[in-house]
Amino acid sequence: MVESNDPYWLVLDGYEDEPAAFGVPPYVGFHIRYVCGVLEQHQINYEYITIDQWRQSLDKMDVLSESNLLGVICIAGAVVPGRYLRGTPISQRESTEFIRQLPHGIPALFGGWAVRGWKQQGWLPLRSNLFLAVQDTDATLNTFLETGKWKHTRRTADEWTKWAHHGAQSKAITQHPDLGTPEKKGPLTYEVEVYQGCVRYKQGCKFCIEPKKGVPIWRTPEDIIGEVKLALDSGVQHVRLGGMTDTYTYMAEGVKELEYPVPNPEPIAALLHGLREDERLNILHTDNGNPSIIAENIEPSEEITKTLVETLSDGAVLSFGLESADPSVHEANWLNCDPRQLKSAIQLINKYGKERGARGLPKLLPGLNFIAGLNGESRESYSMNMDLLTDLRSEGLLLRRINIRQVEGEGFQEIPHDTFHEFKAQVRETIDRPLLKELFPLGQRLSEVHWETHDGRTRLPIHQTSTHTDKSVHGNSGLTFGRQIGAYPILIGVPYHIPLDTSSDILVTGHGARSITGVEIGLDIQNASQKQFEAIPGIGKKTAWNLISTRAKLLRKQNDVSLEELFKAANAELTEAIKDVLCYSEPQ
Ligand code: SF4
Repeated sequence: MVESNDPYWLVLDGYEDEPAAFGVPPYVGFHIRYVCGVLEQHQINYEYITIDQWRQSLDKMDVLSESNLLGVICIAGAVVPGRYLRGTPISQRESTEFIRQLPHGIPALFGGWAVRGWKQQGWLPLRSNLFLAVQDTDATLNTFLETGKWKHTRRTADEWTKWAHHGAQSKAITQHPDLGTPEKKGPLTYEVEVYQGCVRYKQGCKFCIEPKKGVPIWRTPEDIIGEVKLALDSGVQHVRLGGMTDTYTYMAEGVKELEYPVPNPEPIAALLHGLREDERLNILHTDNGNPSIIAENIEPSEEITKTLVETLSDGAVLSFGLESADPSVHEANWLNCDPRQLKSAIQLINKYGKERGARGLPKLLPGLNFIAGLNGESRESYSMNMDLLTDLRSEGLLLRRINIRQVEGEGFQEIPHDTFHEFKAQVRETIDRPLLKELFPLGQRLSEVHWETHDGRTRLPIHQTSTHTDKSVHGNSGLTFGRQIGAYPILIGVPYHIPLDTSSDILVTGHGARSITGVEIGLDIQNASQKQFEAIPGIGKKTAWNLISTRAKLLRKQNDVSLEELFKAANAELTEAIKDVLCYSEPQ
Protein backbone atom coordinates (compact mmCIF):
# COMPACT_ATOMS: atom_id res chain seq x y z
CA MET A 1 0.00 0.00 0.00
CA VAL A 2 2.70 2.50 1.00
CA GLU A 3 5.76 2.46 -1.21
CA SER A 4 8.25 4.54 0.73
CA ASN A 5 9.61 3.73 4.18
CA ASP A 6 9.00 7.24 5.49
CA PRO A 7 6.82 7.41 8.61
CA TYR A 8 3.27 8.40 7.72
CA TRP A 9 -0.31 8.87 8.98
CA LEU A 10 -3.11 6.87 7.47
CA VAL A 11 -6.40 8.62 6.57
CA LEU A 12 -9.23 6.13 6.11
CA ASP A 13 -12.29 7.54 4.33
CA GLY A 14 -15.25 5.64 5.79
CA TYR A 15 -17.58 7.87 3.70
CA GLU A 16 -20.08 10.31 5.11
CA ASP A 17 -23.63 10.32 3.85
CA GLU A 18 -26.04 12.97 5.07
CA PRO A 19 -28.71 14.80 3.05
CA ALA A 20 -26.47 17.88 3.06
CA ALA A 21 -23.10 16.07 3.02
CA PHE A 22 -22.63 13.50 0.27
CA GLY A 23 -19.43 11.50 0.55
CA VAL A 24 -20.06 8.03 -0.87
CA PRO A 25 -18.28 7.56 -4.23
CA PRO A 26 -18.41 9.03 -6.77
CA TYR A 27 -18.70 11.85 -4.19
CA VAL A 28 -15.79 12.90 -2.02
CA GLY A 29 -16.98 14.45 1.25
CA PHE A 30 -15.71 17.66 2.76
CA HIS A 31 -14.90 16.47 6.29
CA ILE A 32 -12.36 13.92 5.10
CA ARG A 33 -10.76 16.63 2.94
CA TYR A 34 -10.51 19.00 5.91
CA VAL A 35 -8.67 16.27 7.85
CA CYS A 36 -6.22 15.88 4.96
CA GLY A 37 -6.03 19.69 4.81
CA VAL A 38 -4.76 19.78 8.42
CA LEU A 39 -2.04 17.22 7.59
CA GLU A 40 -1.11 19.22 4.47
CA GLN A 41 -0.83 22.38 6.52
CA HIS A 42 1.45 20.67 9.04
CA GLN A 43 3.42 19.15 6.12
CA ILE A 44 2.98 15.69 7.58
CA ASN A 45 3.43 12.64 5.37
CA TYR A 46 0.15 10.71 5.01
CA GLU A 47 -1.71 8.24 2.84
CA TYR A 48 -5.39 8.46 1.91
CA ILE A 49 -7.41 5.33 1.25
CA THR A 50 -11.12 4.65 0.97
CA ILE A 51 -12.88 1.97 3.01
CA ASP A 52 -13.44 0.02 -0.23
CA GLN A 53 -9.69 0.03 -0.95
CA TRP A 54 -9.12 -1.01 2.64
CA ARG A 55 -11.47 -4.01 2.27
CA GLN A 56 -9.62 -5.05 -0.87
CA SER A 57 -6.16 -4.61 0.69
CA LEU A 58 -7.11 -6.81 3.65
CA ASP A 59 -7.12 -9.76 1.28
CA LYS A 60 -3.61 -8.97 0.09
CA MET A 61 -1.50 -7.94 3.07
CA ASP A 62 -1.53 -6.93 6.68
CA VAL A 63 -1.44 -3.20 6.04
CA LEU A 64 -1.37 -2.15 9.64
CA SER A 65 1.62 -4.11 10.84
CA GLU A 66 3.89 -1.60 9.18
CA SER A 67 6.30 -0.17 11.71
CA ASN A 68 6.39 3.28 10.10
CA LEU A 69 2.72 4.05 10.78
CA LEU A 70 2.56 7.20 12.93
CA GLY A 71 -1.18 7.47 13.45
CA VAL A 72 -4.61 6.87 11.99
CA ILE A 73 -7.65 9.04 11.30
CA CYS A 74 -11.01 7.77 10.13
CA ILE A 75 -14.25 9.56 9.27
CA ALA A 76 -17.29 7.32 9.66
CA GLY A 77 -20.28 9.29 8.51
CA ALA A 78 -23.22 7.06 7.69
CA VAL A 79 -25.14 6.09 10.83
CA VAL A 80 -27.23 3.44 9.07
CA PRO A 81 -25.49 2.56 5.82
CA GLY A 82 -28.06 1.93 3.07
CA ARG A 83 -27.65 0.18 -0.27
CA TYR A 84 -25.12 1.82 -2.52
CA LEU A 85 -24.01 1.15 -6.08
CA ARG A 86 -20.44 2.33 -6.02
CA GLY A 87 -19.12 2.17 -2.46
CA THR A 88 -20.29 1.05 0.98
CA PRO A 89 -19.64 3.16 4.10
CA ILE A 90 -17.73 1.71 7.00
CA SER A 91 -19.96 -0.06 9.52
CA GLN A 92 -19.67 -0.07 13.30
CA ARG A 93 -18.46 -3.68 13.20
CA GLU A 94 -15.74 -2.83 10.66
CA SER A 95 -14.68 0.20 12.69
CA THR A 96 -14.26 -1.95 15.80
CA GLU A 97 -12.25 -4.52 13.84
CA PHE A 98 -10.08 -1.82 12.30
CA ILE A 99 -9.35 -0.38 15.76
CA ARG A 100 -8.44 -3.85 17.08
CA GLN A 101 -5.87 -4.27 14.33
CA LEU A 102 -4.04 -1.00 14.99
CA PRO A 103 -0.41 -1.30 16.14
CA HIS A 104 -0.21 -0.84 19.89
CA GLY A 105 -0.23 2.72 21.21
CA ILE A 106 -0.28 4.73 17.98
CA PRO A 107 -2.72 7.67 18.07
CA ALA A 108 -6.09 6.97 16.43
CA LEU A 109 -8.80 9.55 15.82
CA PHE A 110 -12.34 8.66 14.77
CA GLY A 111 -14.87 11.30 13.77
CA GLY A 112 -18.06 11.89 11.78
CA TRP A 113 -21.78 11.66 12.44
CA ALA A 114 -21.76 7.87 12.67
CA VAL A 115 -19.20 7.99 15.47
CA ARG A 116 -21.36 10.47 17.39
CA GLY A 117 -24.40 8.23 16.89
CA TRP A 118 -22.57 5.03 17.87
CA LYS A 119 -21.04 6.77 20.87
CA GLN A 120 -24.48 7.80 22.11
CA GLN A 121 -25.57 4.18 21.79
CA GLY A 122 -22.65 3.13 23.98
CA TRP A 123 -19.90 2.34 21.42
CA LEU A 124 -16.63 2.83 23.27
CA PRO A 125 -13.99 0.53 21.75
CA LEU A 126 -11.20 -0.08 24.23
CA ARG A 127 -7.72 0.91 23.19
CA SER A 128 -5.11 3.32 24.47
CA ASN A 129 -4.59 6.56 22.56
CA LEU A 130 -7.93 6.29 20.76
CA PHE A 131 -10.07 9.43 20.60
CA LEU A 132 -13.65 9.68 19.39
CA ALA A 133 -14.22 13.25 18.19
CA VAL A 134 -17.64 14.74 18.84
CA GLN A 135 -16.83 18.24 17.61
CA ASP A 136 -14.76 18.98 14.47
CA THR A 137 -12.44 16.06 13.69
CA ASP A 138 -10.08 18.32 11.70
CA ALA A 139 -9.75 20.85 14.54
CA THR A 140 -9.30 18.05 17.09
CA LEU A 141 -6.49 16.58 14.98
CA ASN A 142 -4.91 20.01 14.73
CA THR A 143 -4.97 20.40 18.52
CA PHE A 144 -3.33 16.97 18.90
CA LEU A 145 -0.60 17.79 16.38
CA GLU A 146 0.10 21.09 18.12
CA THR A 147 -0.05 19.96 21.75
CA GLY A 148 0.25 16.17 21.74
CA LYS A 149 -3.05 16.01 23.66
CA TRP A 150 -6.56 14.90 22.68
CA LYS A 151 -9.16 17.62 23.25
CA HIS A 152 -12.57 18.16 21.60
CA THR A 153 -12.09 21.27 19.46
CA ARG A 154 -14.10 23.39 17.02
CA ARG A 155 -12.52 25.04 14.00
CA THR A 156 -12.51 28.83 13.60
CA ALA A 157 -13.71 30.56 10.41
CA ASP A 158 -10.09 31.09 9.30
CA GLU A 159 -9.24 27.46 9.86
CA TRP A 160 -12.34 26.44 7.90
CA THR A 161 -11.06 28.30 4.83
CA LYS A 162 -7.47 27.18 5.32
CA TRP A 163 -8.26 23.46 5.66
CA ALA A 164 -10.90 23.54 2.93
CA HIS A 165 -8.36 25.06 0.52
CA HIS A 166 -5.56 22.67 1.55
CA GLY A 167 -8.03 19.78 1.36
CA ALA A 168 -8.90 20.67 -2.25
CA GLN A 169 -5.30 19.90 -3.23
CA SER A 170 -4.85 16.96 -0.87
CA LYS A 171 -4.52 13.24 -1.47
CA ALA A 172 -8.27 12.87 -0.78
CA ILE A 173 -8.52 14.19 -4.35
CA THR A 174 -5.30 13.25 -6.08
CA GLN A 175 -5.35 9.67 -4.72
CA HIS A 176 -9.12 9.20 -4.95
CA PRO A 177 -9.88 6.16 -7.12
CA ASP A 178 -12.73 7.99 -8.88
CA LEU A 179 -10.57 10.91 -10.07
CA GLY A 180 -9.29 8.94 -13.06
CA THR A 181 -6.45 10.23 -15.24
CA PRO A 182 -6.22 13.30 -17.50
CA GLU A 183 -6.80 10.95 -20.46
CA LYS A 184 -9.61 9.00 -18.84
CA LYS A 185 -11.42 11.15 -16.34
CA GLY A 186 -13.38 9.43 -13.57
CA PRO A 187 -16.80 10.43 -12.19
CA LEU A 188 -15.47 12.04 -8.99
CA THR A 189 -17.88 14.68 -7.70
CA TYR A 190 -16.64 17.24 -5.23
CA GLU A 191 -19.08 18.03 -2.41
CA VAL A 192 -18.38 21.55 -1.21
CA GLU A 193 -19.63 22.96 2.08
CA VAL A 194 -21.43 26.27 1.57
CA TYR A 195 -22.70 26.88 5.08
CA GLN A 196 -23.63 25.30 8.39
CA GLY A 197 -26.89 25.31 10.31
CA CYS A 198 -30.49 26.18 9.53
CA VAL A 199 -32.38 29.48 9.70
CA ARG A 200 -34.95 27.72 11.88
CA TYR A 201 -32.34 27.43 14.61
CA LYS A 202 -34.58 28.95 17.30
CA GLN A 203 -37.39 26.44 16.86
CA GLY A 204 -36.51 23.91 14.18
CA CYS A 205 -38.09 20.60 13.25
CA LYS A 206 -37.91 18.48 16.41
CA PHE A 207 -36.25 15.47 14.79
CA CYS A 208 -33.42 17.49 13.21
CA ILE A 209 -29.90 18.14 14.49
CA GLU A 210 -29.25 21.28 12.41
CA PRO A 211 -30.88 23.79 14.82
CA LYS A 212 -28.41 22.64 17.50
CA LYS A 213 -25.64 24.26 15.44
CA GLY A 214 -27.08 27.72 16.26
CA VAL A 215 -27.12 30.77 13.95
CA PRO A 216 -26.06 29.66 10.45
CA ILE A 217 -22.46 30.42 9.51
CA TRP A 218 -21.97 31.23 5.83
CA ARG A 219 -18.82 30.95 3.79
CA THR A 220 -18.40 33.79 1.31
CA PRO A 221 -18.76 33.22 -2.46
CA GLU A 222 -15.07 34.17 -2.91
CA ASP A 223 -13.93 31.61 -0.35
CA ILE A 224 -15.96 28.82 -1.99
CA ILE A 225 -14.97 29.79 -5.54
CA GLY A 226 -11.32 29.84 -4.42
CA GLU A 227 -11.64 26.34 -2.99
CA VAL A 228 -13.34 24.96 -6.11
CA LYS A 229 -10.63 26.49 -8.32
CA LEU A 230 -8.00 24.59 -6.35
CA ALA A 231 -10.06 21.41 -6.71
CA LEU A 232 -10.29 21.98 -10.48
CA ASP A 233 -6.49 22.43 -10.51
CA SER A 234 -6.28 18.99 -8.88
CA GLY A 235 -8.32 17.45 -11.70
CA VAL A 236 -11.89 17.66 -10.36
CA GLN A 237 -14.61 18.34 -12.96
CA HIS A 238 -17.92 17.93 -11.13
CA VAL A 239 -19.17 19.78 -8.07
CA ARG A 240 -22.22 19.66 -5.82
CA LEU A 241 -22.91 22.57 -3.50
CA GLY A 242 -23.66 20.80 -0.24
CA GLY A 243 -23.94 21.77 3.40
CA MET A 244 -26.99 23.85 2.56
CA THR A 245 -30.12 23.15 4.55
CA ASP A 246 -31.73 25.60 2.12
CA THR A 247 -30.18 26.96 -1.08
CA TYR A 248 -32.54 29.97 -0.89
CA THR A 249 -31.45 31.19 2.56
CA TYR A 250 -27.74 31.35 1.74
CA MET A 251 -26.81 34.75 3.22
CA ALA A 252 -30.51 35.63 3.66
CA GLU A 253 -31.64 38.79 5.39
CA GLY A 254 -33.29 38.84 8.82
CA VAL A 255 -32.05 35.43 9.94
CA LYS A 256 -32.06 36.45 13.60
CA GLU A 257 -35.33 38.43 13.56
CA LEU A 258 -37.72 36.83 11.08
CA GLU A 259 -39.59 33.51 11.05
CA TYR A 260 -39.14 33.49 7.28
CA PRO A 261 -35.84 35.24 6.49
CA VAL A 262 -35.80 37.00 3.12
CA PRO A 263 -33.73 35.24 0.44
CA ASN A 264 -30.95 37.33 -1.00
CA PRO A 265 -30.51 36.68 -4.76
CA GLU A 266 -27.11 38.41 -5.02
CA PRO A 267 -24.68 36.20 -3.07
CA ILE A 268 -26.01 32.96 -4.53
CA ALA A 269 -25.80 34.50 -8.04
CA ALA A 270 -22.24 35.66 -7.32
CA LEU A 271 -21.37 32.14 -6.19
CA LEU A 272 -22.99 30.27 -9.08
CA HIS A 273 -21.89 32.62 -11.88
CA GLY A 274 -18.43 32.87 -10.30
CA LEU A 275 -18.10 29.08 -10.37
CA ARG A 276 -19.32 28.90 -13.96
CA GLU A 277 -16.64 31.38 -15.09
CA ASP A 278 -14.13 28.55 -14.88
CA GLU A 279 -14.70 26.50 -17.99
CA ARG A 280 -13.10 23.41 -16.47
CA LEU A 281 -16.21 22.95 -14.31
CA ASN A 282 -18.57 20.44 -15.93
CA ILE A 283 -21.52 19.26 -13.79
CA LEU A 284 -22.74 21.66 -11.11
CA HIS A 285 -25.61 20.69 -8.81
CA THR A 286 -27.02 21.96 -5.54
CA ASP A 287 -28.58 20.90 -2.26
CA ASN A 288 -31.91 21.27 -0.47
CA GLY A 289 -34.57 23.97 -0.64
CA ASN A 290 -36.98 25.17 2.03
CA PRO A 291 -40.51 25.44 0.55
CA SER A 292 -41.86 27.70 3.30
CA ILE A 293 -39.11 30.27 2.72
CA ILE A 294 -39.74 30.14 -1.04
CA ALA A 295 -43.53 30.40 -0.68
CA GLU A 296 -43.40 33.30 1.77
CA ASN A 297 -40.88 35.21 -0.37
CA ILE A 298 -41.94 34.55 -3.95
CA GLU A 299 -40.23 37.54 -5.59
CA PRO A 300 -36.61 37.03 -4.46
CA SER A 301 -37.12 33.26 -4.73
CA GLU A 302 -38.12 33.68 -8.36
CA GLU A 303 -34.84 35.52 -9.00
CA ILE A 304 -32.84 32.76 -7.33
CA THR A 305 -34.73 30.06 -9.26
CA LYS A 306 -33.85 31.76 -12.56
CA THR A 307 -30.18 31.87 -11.53
CA LEU A 308 -30.24 28.19 -10.58
CA VAL A 309 -31.77 27.19 -13.91
CA GLU A 310 -29.23 29.33 -15.78
CA THR A 311 -26.13 28.05 -14.02
CA LEU A 312 -26.77 24.50 -12.80
CA SER A 313 -26.43 21.44 -15.03
CA ASP A 314 -29.71 19.81 -16.04
CA GLY A 315 -31.03 17.09 -13.79
CA ALA A 316 -30.57 19.31 -10.71
CA VAL A 317 -32.80 18.43 -7.75
CA LEU A 318 -33.89 20.63 -4.86
CA SER A 319 -35.01 18.35 -2.05
CA PHE A 320 -38.00 19.68 -0.11
CA GLY A 321 -38.68 18.38 3.38
CA LEU A 322 -42.44 18.35 3.88
CA GLU A 323 -42.23 15.26 6.13
CA SER A 324 -46.03 15.12 6.63
CA ALA A 325 -49.13 16.76 5.16
CA ASP A 326 -51.03 16.28 8.43
CA PRO A 327 -51.50 19.57 10.38
CA SER A 328 -51.37 17.74 13.74
CA VAL A 329 -48.00 16.20 12.87
CA HIS A 330 -46.85 19.59 11.61
CA GLU A 331 -47.76 21.22 14.91
CA ALA A 332 -46.42 18.47 17.18
CA ASN A 333 -43.01 18.45 15.48
CA TRP A 334 -42.62 22.14 14.59
CA LEU A 335 -42.32 21.16 10.96
CA ASN A 336 -40.97 23.49 8.37
CA CYS A 337 -43.70 23.84 5.76
CA ASP A 338 -47.37 23.12 5.17
CA PRO A 339 -49.02 21.74 1.99
CA ARG A 340 -50.03 25.21 0.75
CA GLN A 341 -46.47 26.50 0.98
CA LEU A 342 -45.14 23.32 -0.56
CA LYS A 343 -47.46 23.55 -3.54
CA SER A 344 -46.59 27.15 -4.27
CA ALA A 345 -42.83 26.38 -4.05
CA ILE A 346 -43.23 23.41 -6.41
CA GLN A 347 -45.20 25.54 -8.86
CA LEU A 348 -42.40 28.10 -8.92
CA ILE A 349 -39.63 25.54 -9.47
CA ASN A 350 -41.66 23.78 -12.19
CA LYS A 351 -42.34 27.08 -13.97
CA TYR A 352 -38.63 27.56 -14.67
CA GLY A 353 -37.13 24.12 -14.19
CA LYS A 354 -39.35 21.84 -16.27
CA GLU A 355 -37.66 22.53 -19.59
CA ARG A 356 -35.07 19.94 -20.71
CA GLY A 357 -31.38 20.75 -20.88
CA ALA A 358 -28.38 19.51 -22.84
CA ARG A 359 -28.20 16.07 -21.18
CA GLY A 360 -31.88 15.34 -21.86
CA LEU A 361 -33.12 15.98 -18.31
CA PRO A 362 -35.50 18.61 -16.90
CA LYS A 363 -33.24 21.40 -15.72
CA LEU A 364 -34.36 21.72 -12.09
CA LEU A 365 -37.02 19.77 -10.25
CA PRO A 366 -38.07 19.45 -6.64
CA GLY A 367 -37.65 16.23 -4.68
CA LEU A 368 -40.03 15.54 -1.81
CA ASN A 369 -39.26 13.94 1.56
CA PHE A 370 -41.73 12.27 3.89
CA ILE A 371 -40.94 10.90 7.34
CA ALA A 372 -42.99 8.14 8.97
CA GLY A 373 -42.92 7.73 12.74
CA LEU A 374 -43.24 11.37 13.79
CA ASN A 375 -45.24 12.18 16.90
CA GLY A 376 -48.92 12.88 16.35
CA GLU A 377 -49.05 10.65 13.30
CA SER A 378 -52.17 8.52 12.70
CA ARG A 379 -53.55 6.38 9.88
CA GLU A 380 -55.25 9.53 8.54
CA SER A 381 -51.85 11.24 8.15
CA TYR A 382 -51.05 8.80 5.34
CA SER A 383 -54.31 9.55 3.49
CA MET A 384 -53.51 13.25 3.78
CA ASN A 385 -50.06 12.62 2.28
CA MET A 386 -51.63 10.64 -0.54
CA ASP A 387 -54.29 13.32 -1.20
CA LEU A 388 -51.58 15.95 -1.44
CA LEU A 389 -49.54 13.92 -3.93
CA THR A 390 -52.64 13.21 -6.03
CA ASP A 391 -53.46 16.90 -6.03
CA LEU A 392 -49.93 17.88 -7.14
CA ARG A 393 -50.04 15.36 -9.97
CA SER A 394 -53.54 16.37 -11.06
CA GLU A 395 -52.08 19.83 -11.72
CA GLY A 396 -49.34 18.24 -13.83
CA LEU A 397 -46.59 19.24 -11.39
CA LEU A 398 -43.35 17.29 -11.66
CA LEU A 399 -41.26 15.86 -8.84
CA ARG A 400 -37.95 14.15 -9.47
CA ARG A 401 -38.07 11.82 -6.47
CA ILE A 402 -40.24 11.03 -3.48
CA ASN A 403 -38.27 9.82 -0.51
CA ILE A 404 -40.19 8.06 2.28
CA ARG A 405 -38.08 7.54 5.37
CA GLN A 406 -38.99 5.67 8.56
CA VAL A 407 -37.74 6.85 11.91
CA GLU A 408 -37.93 4.66 14.96
CA GLY A 409 -36.74 4.66 18.54
CA GLU A 410 -36.61 7.23 21.28
CA GLY A 411 -38.51 10.45 20.55
CA PHE A 412 -40.61 8.87 17.80
CA GLN A 413 -43.83 6.95 17.83
CA GLU A 414 -44.69 3.52 16.52
CA ILE A 415 -45.52 3.32 12.83
CA PRO A 416 -48.82 1.68 11.81
CA HIS A 417 -46.98 -0.79 9.60
CA ASP A 418 -49.86 -1.95 7.40
CA THR A 419 -50.97 1.62 6.59
CA PHE A 420 -47.39 2.71 6.06
CA HIS A 421 -46.64 -0.11 3.60
CA GLU A 422 -49.92 0.53 1.77
CA PHE A 423 -49.01 4.21 1.46
CA LYS A 424 -45.56 3.38 0.15
CA ALA A 425 -46.90 0.91 -2.39
CA GLN A 426 -49.57 3.35 -3.53
CA VAL A 427 -46.99 6.12 -4.00
CA ARG A 428 -44.69 3.84 -5.99
CA GLU A 429 -47.54 2.59 -8.18
CA THR A 430 -49.77 5.62 -8.75
CA ILE A 431 -47.31 8.51 -8.43
CA ASP A 432 -43.73 7.33 -9.03
CA ARG A 433 -44.39 5.05 -11.98
CA PRO A 434 -46.28 7.61 -14.12
CA LEU A 435 -43.76 10.28 -13.10
CA LEU A 436 -40.87 8.12 -14.27
CA LYS A 437 -42.55 7.70 -17.65
CA GLU A 438 -43.06 11.44 -17.94
CA LEU A 439 -39.55 12.39 -16.85
CA PHE A 440 -37.84 9.74 -18.99
CA PRO A 441 -40.22 9.09 -21.90
CA LEU A 442 -39.60 6.28 -24.37
CA GLY A 443 -37.26 7.48 -27.09
CA GLN A 444 -35.76 10.26 -24.91
CA ARG A 445 -32.02 10.74 -25.45
CA LEU A 446 -29.88 10.95 -22.30
CA SER A 447 -26.26 11.86 -22.71
CA GLU A 448 -23.02 10.99 -20.91
CA VAL A 449 -24.16 7.95 -18.95
CA HIS A 450 -21.23 6.64 -16.95
CA TRP A 451 -21.14 2.79 -16.88
CA GLU A 452 -20.43 1.38 -13.43
CA THR A 453 -21.39 -2.28 -12.90
CA HIS A 454 -22.11 -5.52 -14.76
CA ASP A 455 -24.88 -8.02 -13.99
CA GLY A 456 -25.83 -6.53 -10.62
CA ARG A 457 -26.39 -3.24 -8.88
CA THR A 458 -23.24 -3.28 -6.77
CA ARG A 459 -19.80 -2.42 -8.05
CA LEU A 460 -17.37 -5.22 -7.23
CA PRO A 461 -13.56 -5.18 -7.21
CA ILE A 462 -13.54 -7.39 -10.31
CA HIS A 463 -15.38 -4.65 -12.21
CA GLN A 464 -12.16 -2.64 -12.21
CA THR A 465 -10.26 -5.35 -14.11
CA SER A 466 -9.88 -5.66 -17.89
CA THR A 467 -12.46 -8.49 -17.97
CA HIS A 468 -15.00 -5.72 -17.46
CA THR A 469 -13.29 -2.59 -18.76
CA ASP A 470 -11.74 -3.78 -22.02
CA LYS A 471 -13.47 -2.62 -25.19
CA SER A 472 -13.65 -6.24 -26.43
CA VAL A 473 -16.51 -6.92 -23.96
CA HIS A 474 -18.79 -4.49 -25.79
CA GLY A 475 -21.98 -6.26 -26.91
CA ASN A 476 -21.42 -9.45 -24.90
CA SER A 477 -24.45 -10.91 -23.18
CA GLY A 478 -25.25 -9.66 -19.68
CA LEU A 479 -26.44 -6.44 -18.10
CA THR A 480 -24.72 -3.09 -17.61
CA PHE A 481 -25.80 -0.44 -15.11
CA GLY A 482 -24.82 3.19 -15.12
CA ARG A 483 -25.85 6.70 -14.16
CA GLN A 484 -25.37 10.26 -15.30
CA ILE A 485 -23.17 12.40 -13.06
CA GLY A 486 -24.94 14.51 -10.46
CA ALA A 487 -27.36 14.44 -7.56
CA TYR A 488 -29.96 11.64 -7.43
CA PRO A 489 -29.31 10.28 -10.92
CA ILE A 490 -31.68 7.64 -12.32
CA LEU A 491 -30.26 4.12 -12.59
CA ILE A 492 -30.02 3.02 -16.23
CA GLY A 493 -29.78 -0.64 -17.25
CA VAL A 494 -28.71 -1.87 -20.69
CA PRO A 495 -29.25 -5.53 -21.72
CA TYR A 496 -25.68 -6.23 -22.90
CA HIS A 497 -22.18 -5.52 -21.64
CA ILE A 498 -20.58 -2.11 -22.15
CA PRO A 499 -16.95 -1.65 -21.03
CA LEU A 500 -17.09 -0.19 -17.51
CA ASP A 501 -15.61 3.22 -16.69
CA THR A 502 -16.68 4.53 -20.10
CA SER A 503 -19.57 6.84 -21.00
CA SER A 504 -22.10 6.87 -23.78
CA ASP A 505 -25.43 8.39 -24.79
CA ILE A 506 -28.60 6.31 -24.65
CA LEU A 507 -32.16 6.20 -25.88
CA VAL A 508 -34.78 5.27 -23.27
CA THR A 509 -36.45 1.94 -24.13
CA GLY A 510 -38.32 0.92 -20.96
CA HIS A 511 -39.22 1.62 -17.35
CA GLY A 512 -38.64 -0.41 -14.19
CA ALA A 513 -39.92 0.38 -10.71
CA ARG A 514 -37.24 2.98 -9.94
CA SER A 515 -34.92 2.61 -12.90
CA ILE A 516 -35.06 2.74 -16.68
CA THR A 517 -33.65 0.66 -19.51
CA GLY A 518 -31.94 1.97 -22.58
CA VAL A 519 -29.79 1.25 -25.59
CA GLU A 520 -26.70 3.14 -26.66
CA ILE A 521 -26.98 5.62 -29.51
CA GLY A 522 -24.46 5.12 -32.32
CA LEU A 523 -24.09 1.33 -32.37
CA ASP A 524 -22.10 0.38 -35.43
CA ILE A 525 -24.08 -1.56 -38.05
CA GLN A 526 -20.88 -3.34 -39.16
CA ASN A 527 -20.29 -5.07 -35.85
CA ALA A 528 -23.34 -4.70 -33.56
CA SER A 529 -23.89 -7.95 -31.66
CA GLN A 530 -27.12 -9.91 -31.51
CA LYS A 531 -27.71 -8.66 -27.94
CA GLN A 532 -27.24 -5.07 -29.10
CA PHE A 533 -29.71 -5.52 -31.97
CA GLU A 534 -32.18 -7.07 -29.54
CA ALA A 535 -31.93 -4.05 -27.23
CA ILE A 536 -33.28 -1.75 -29.97
CA PRO A 537 -37.06 -1.17 -29.84
CA GLY A 538 -38.80 -3.00 -32.71
CA ILE A 539 -36.10 -5.67 -33.11
CA GLY A 540 -36.96 -8.96 -31.41
CA LYS A 541 -34.77 -12.00 -30.86
CA LYS A 542 -35.67 -13.55 -34.21
CA THR A 543 -35.04 -10.39 -36.24
CA ALA A 544 -31.76 -9.82 -34.41
CA TRP A 545 -30.55 -13.28 -35.39
CA ASN A 546 -31.78 -12.73 -38.94
CA LEU A 547 -29.82 -9.45 -39.13
CA ILE A 548 -26.64 -11.12 -37.84
CA SER A 549 -26.78 -13.99 -40.33
CA THR A 550 -27.77 -11.72 -43.25
CA ARG A 551 -24.87 -9.38 -42.42
CA ALA A 552 -22.45 -12.34 -42.36
CA LYS A 553 -23.67 -13.42 -45.79
CA LEU A 554 -23.35 -9.90 -47.24
CA LEU A 555 -19.88 -9.40 -45.77
CA ARG A 556 -18.66 -12.58 -47.43
CA LYS A 557 -19.21 -10.84 -50.76
CA GLN A 558 -18.43 -7.21 -49.89
CA ASN A 559 -16.38 -4.99 -47.59
CA ASP A 560 -19.13 -3.22 -45.69
CA VAL A 561 -22.86 -3.02 -45.36
CA SER A 562 -25.19 -0.04 -45.09
CA LEU A 563 -28.22 0.22 -42.82
CA GLU A 564 -30.77 0.25 -45.65
CA GLU A 565 -29.03 -2.60 -47.47
CA LEU A 566 -28.95 -4.85 -44.42
CA PHE A 567 -32.56 -4.28 -43.41
CA LYS A 568 -33.75 -4.77 -47.00
CA ALA A 569 -31.79 -8.01 -47.40
CA ALA A 570 -33.08 -9.29 -44.04
CA ASN A 571 -36.60 -8.23 -44.95
CA ALA A 572 -36.86 -6.30 -41.65
CA GLU A 573 -38.61 -2.99 -41.06
CA LEU A 574 -36.26 -0.01 -40.65
CA THR A 575 -38.03 2.36 -38.23
CA GLU A 576 -37.02 5.86 -37.10
CA ALA A 577 -36.04 4.50 -33.66
CA ILE A 578 -33.69 2.00 -35.31
CA LYS A 579 -32.18 4.77 -37.43
CA ASP A 580 -31.66 6.81 -34.21
CA VAL A 581 -29.63 4.03 -32.64
CA LEU A 582 -27.62 2.43 -35.42
CA CYS A 583 -24.95 4.17 -37.42
CA TYR A 584 -22.76 3.34 -40.38
CA SER A 585 -19.01 3.63 -40.14
CA GLU A 586 -16.41 2.98 -42.81
CA PRO A 587 -14.66 -0.34 -42.24
CA GLN A 588 -11.08 0.11 -41.03
S1 SF4 B 1 -35.94 23.09 8.02
FE1 SF4 B 1 -36.23 21.60 9.67
S2 SF4 B 1 -35.40 19.70 8.84
FE2 SF4 B 1 -34.67 21.32 7.52
S3 SF4 B 1 -32.66 21.80 8.37
FE3 SF4 B 1 -34.11 23.21 9.30
S4 SF4 B 1 -34.73 22.27 11.19
FE4 SF4 B 1 -33.75 20.70 9.96
